[in-house]
Amino acid sequence: MRETFLERWKNTRVRYASKAFLTRSMAKLIENEGLGLDVVSLGELYTALSAGFPAERIEMNGNAKSHEEIELAVNSGVGRIIVDHPDELKVIEKFSREKNKKQKILIRVAPGVDAHTHKYISTGQTDSKFGFPFEVRDGSMLTEAIKYSMKSEYLDLKGLHFHVGSQLFDPEDHIKSLEKIIEVMKDLKTNLNFITHELNFGGGFGAVKNPSMPSVKSETFTEPMMKLLHSDCEKYELEIPRAVIEPGRWIISEAGITIYRVENIKELPKITYIAVNGGMADNPRFALYQAEYDAVAVKNPDAPAYDRDGGTRVLIVGKCCESGDILIDNAKIMKLEAGDLIALYNSGAYTFSMSSTYNKLQRPAVVFVENGESKLVVERQSLEDIIRGDNLV
Ligand SMILES: *Cc1c(COP(=O)(O)O)cnc(C)c1O
Repeated sequence: MRETFLERWKNTRVRYASKAFLTRSMAKLIENEGLGLDVVSLGELYTALSAGFPAERIEMNGNAKSHEEIELAVNSGVGRIIVDHPDELKVIEKFSREKNKKQKILIRVAPGVDAHTHKYISTGQTDSKFGFPFEVRDGSMLTEAIKYSMKSEYLDLKGLHFHVGSQLFDPEDHIKSLEKIIEVMKDLKTNLNFITHELNFGGGFGAVKNPSMPSVKSETFTEPMMKLLHSDCEKYELEIPRAVIEPGRWIISEAGITIYRVENIKELPKITYIAVNGGMADNPRFALYQAEYDAVAVKNPDAPAYDRDGGTRVLIVGKCCESGDILIDNAKIMKLEAGDLIALYNSGAYTFSMSSTYNKLQRPAVVFVENGESKLVVERQSLEDIIRGDNLV
């Protein structure tokens, strides 16, 4: 992204969507790579700040921000608050007034594009819970919010934000959205004399499930978007805004491998269950939206898949008390025994960050590995951690 986006195009920024995976060491790594962070909650903001992440490189998203979240965002000096509801404007103003400063903001719009992905991770459609409908006319939510911000002493409205959805493999939905947003920029200039100085394209760039598959190149998205931005802005005589992208999954998914131990194997007619020492508690993504993974045996990653009697369905399942606690359906993996380790590839995004302690399972450890050296960045939860704050009254 540094080479194909930041260095290739002037006036651009990358903000890592930290909800995909955030620990304090991850924040540090992102800082050292020269990127910024997108946070969506008090907890994510606090984690980033406690790692010493520079506040001006943090952007605060969220469709239901609390006053407490907005207060910390304003007081800590985050670079942008991305407004998702008109009521937020007054709250941001209140805290900015107390601080006697002008808070930089963007307004999130829903571009009215129904992304080609699972409906739970599509966010840009007109009736989405996210963003302002992009309608520009007197009395519309967007128009009124922009007028209000332009008049405010405490709000510095830099531009617009959109995010179409997640796990996309071609730029079609991003392009369709961008076309509409540029129309909106044009209308805002004509009707309100509002100049969009910054445009945040969101994230959504897809990740593959297996290292033998070619990764999606980020320029698959950024090249056509930047070309369209330049050509349309020229056509409509608009200033070319700063372009910001907010990828989460693309940055972290393929960097992550989850290691499980096989506890037992149950061979039934036509079906084999490989049960492991984790599951939906550390990775709820199959249970939520049938996310697909590939796994290999750690002792022999290249071994061919084992098929017991021709057409047996193999499931890798977790240890939670739910039949939906599945990690992989129709797994292709070598013959395993209890005690073997398996590696679930490309499971860095939305796994640890979505994990729970269901069934009072302890959250696993996280280890960074580079050039054969490892560092423990998150400790495995202890049994003490499991009962911390659980008062016996
Ligand atoms: C989730 C999210 C992202 C990142 O999505 P990915 O698919 O992980 O790239 C970016 N921006 C916003 C506003 C989001 O909600």
